[in-house]
Amino acid sequence: MITVVGSGLAGSVLALELAQRGLTVSLIDPGSGATPNATALSYGLLPPPAAAGWRRLQRRHGDLGLRRRWLQLGPRGLPLPALQVDPRRFAAAAAAALQRCGVERLTRPLLQPEALAPLHERGPVVLACGAGCRSLAPGIDRRLRCSWAGILELPPGSSPVWPRGIARLPARFARQQLEQEAAALQQERWIVDAGLVPCGDRLLAGQITLVRPQLEPGPAPDPAVMEERLRTALAPRWPQLASAPGHYQQAAVSFCSDGAPLVGPAGEGLWVLAGFSGAFAQLPAAAAALAVQLASSSG
Ligand SMILES: Cc1cc2nc3c(=O)[nH]c(=O)nc-3n(C[C@H](O)[C@H](O)[C@H](O)COP(=O)(O)OP(=O)(O)OC[C@H]3O[C@@H](n4cnc5c(N)ncnc54)[C@H](O)[C@@H]3O)c2cc1C
Repeated sequence: MITVVGSGLAGSVLALELAQRGLTVSLIDPGSGATPNATALSYGLLPPPAAAGWRRLQRRHGDLGLRRRWLQLGPRGLPLPALQVDPRRFAAAAAAALQRCGVERLTRPLLQPEALAPLHERGPVVLACGAGCRSLAPGIDRRLRCSWAGILELPPGSSPVWPRGIARLPARFARQQLEQEAAALQQERWIVDAGLVPCGDRLLAGQITLVRPQLEPGPAPDPAVMEERLRTALAPRWPQLASAPGHYQQAAVSFCSDGAPLVGPAGEGLWVLAGFSGAFAQLPAAAAALAVQLASSSG
């Protein structure tokens, strides 16, 4: 039995890959009733060359939400072909696929480190719980850090700035720069990337990122303050967003300070799959590689 902790993008794709290889899998997560995970808030964008892994998964499990999308980088960039995995479609379709594959789903409150011991008795444990990994394994690689990220979700059809199907993002993400500087921070810092991304029937506006000097996520920042910062920063480009109806949501997101995710062993019987930059592009291949390693070490 392999236990996967976390049923966001990383844990769900890994559980599918493990079950596909005939392994018995248990997937543990507190579920969506608590706070949104990073996957639920994501734009889900990926470059076309990274589509092969998703097509392979979809051939096996049906539609997981992969869609064609046009993407404009910078205010004057030409729209380019891109791909998007609609996170809501993914969550629903992955849940059904996991059930078909016989993966056991356990809805538990956030696990504490001591809860891992009984899980280890059943077999290997994989931490695929994003920003929650360090709370379960405090000694995990110090490259694994986390930010708080927030978006404004505009209700279907109501937006005064609906971009007719084209996703708009900055040519360069300030978030990536902030992540690279994370290890040297003396105090918390936040930045806004002005994106406008259709996602299923929703429109996701902006992305505010807050990074703290410490390795743990810490308490969630005040949502009212974060929303105000986000709207104010988006207003010069899209003035309507200063007051348009919208729902602010935020989640803790894991990343690695050097841009290379943690994929592999993390201690005796403990494995990790976390800290992605470009998770939607990288995860199908990374999860498949980890599943091969786990299958060979379990068999
Ligand atoms: C606004 C925004 C836009 C983004 N856009 C893109 C994009 O366009 N392209 C891209 O590739 N990436 C994007 N990302 C990043 C991407 O969404 C994340 O890297 C990815 O979804 C992380 O997936 P995950 O499974 O590792 O973590 P999560 O989705 O956060 O899942 C972790 C799960 O672990 C569970 N968990 C945590 N702690 C515990 C515990 N102690 N016990 C049990 N369960 C636990 C949580 O409940 C959660 O369900 C974006 C992120 C945000 C916030």
